[in-house]
Amino acid sequence: MNRAGIVSVVGILATATAYAPAALAAPLAPAASAAPSAACADQPAQARVRAGAHVTERNQPGPAQVAAMEKDFRSRLGKLPKKRTNAINVRVHFQVVYGSAGNVSDATLKKQLDVLNAAYAGSGVTFTHAATKRTQNAAWFSDPERNERAMKTALRQGNAQDLNFYTADLGNSLLGWATFPSSYRNSPVMDGVVVHYQSLPGGTLAEYNEGDTGTHEVGHWMGLYHTFQGACSGEGDQVADTPAEESPASGCPTGRDTCPSAGVDPIHNYMDYSYDACMTEFTPGQNQRMQSQWSTYRAQ
Ligand SMILES: [Zn+2]
Repeated sequence: MNRAGIVSVVGILATATAYAPAALAAPLAPAASAAPSAACADQPAQARVRAGAHVTERNQPGPAQVAAMEKDFRSRLGKLPKKRTNAINVRVHFQVVYGSAGNVSDATLKKQLDVLNAAYAGSGVTFTHAATKRTQNAAWFSDPERNERAMKTALRQGNAQDLNFYTADLGNSLLGWATFPSSYRNSPVMDGVVVHYQSLPGGTLAEYNEGDTGTHEVGHWMGLYHTFQGACSGEGDQVADTPAEESPASGCPTGRDTCPSAGVDPIHNYMDYSYDACMTEFTPGQNQRMQSQWSTYRAQ
């Protein structure tokens, strides 16, 4: 199977109804038989996609959904007190779901936590280990998409400020997915991130095994869109200091510049699809958005 075909789908869950099982199970094309195509590149992707992959991602917000989400965000943010704290502490509940494999070690989970803390150090976000729960369930482990609701209903811990970080075998199409802060209110049980257990530091997914799938998915959980959201036009990712990008980057294509507007593509940003080693930063604008999203949807 072509490893370079793995995708990380971020579950951008704008509404509870977006989780209809039939829609979720839909069309995950086998990576090995999926040739890249214009249709693939044109998808309004909301996930980290491995090079060459062509899958239908779940829970992606299209332009109308983003517009509705942003309208709600502005409305709620505007009603908050002006003075807000900048220090955010996220309690992390590792949810290790395993079968014949996948029982990730405590040492690996600690490395993943360290990766998160390093990546978010400049964002004012710290991650504190709250608990690790190990659950042996072969079906959930091998198909967490199809079993997402049952798995999360059984396992999820805490409130809006608790990050439930599930690890499982996402197969050859996905690296991970996440939910947005704005989804918590209507669907708290689904809140969290799910990542491929081999994407954790030291895993077997070449180029995607330094733990930055976790960094990327948590970015969505903190309220960030992809840097290529909206492609070259419009408000894109709603962050002013990430140059517009027509499509996801893969690998580490230094100097890539896909939009006529100012700035080269933000291939080093954690919210692109580049290799782990290539992704090194969040911008001040993204940091500000994370703070505002937290104040609006998670601190309440
Ligand atoms: Zn993503």
